[in-house]
Amino acid sequence: MRVVIDDDVCSGHGRCYVLSPTLFTDDDRGYGQVTGDGTFADDDRSAAERAVGSCPEHAITIVDR
Ligand code: SF4
Repeated sequence: MRVVIDDDVCSGHGRCYVLSPTLFTDDDRGYGQVTGDGTFADDDRSAAERAVGSCPEHAITIVDR
């Protein structure tokens, strides 16, 4: 599984990388970016779901690889 950010929707609120820093980081404008290709292990599933539920723009989805 991996997390994906829709860059057309992300507005840079920053919740993803504050709440789930193992999976997300920010770019130089404060917009969210997935770490690496967004792939995560089962141990990070709750962090991924937390980010999905916390993004005010609903810009984050969890997808199959
Ligand atoms: S929480 Fe959502 S809107 Fe905010 S930076 Fe992350 S993906 Fe973008």
